[in-house]
Amino acid sequence: MKRDPLEGQYFGKWKVLSYDGCYNHKKSYYFCLCTGCGEVHRVRADKMKSGKSTQCTACARKQRNSEVKGSVME
Ligand SMILES: [Zn+2]
Repeated sequence: MKRDPLEGQYFGKWKVLSYDGCYNHKKSYYFCLCTGCGEVHRVRADKMKSGKSTQCTACARKQRNSEVKGSVME
């Protein structure tokens, strides 16, 4: 299977660092830096490309919380 070279590309807050491998029914995974918090996570390529994954779960949670609270910042 041909893989897309995603290294160096951005998907939302993700910056793709390097290819990891194929797991779970030939889904491609990449090591990605979450530019929101600086953590590196393994992310599924198809989720990034489809826009379903744009940041790590911690940042997604933070974003949801800030949306609920509106303009009130901690
Ligand atoms: Zn993050």
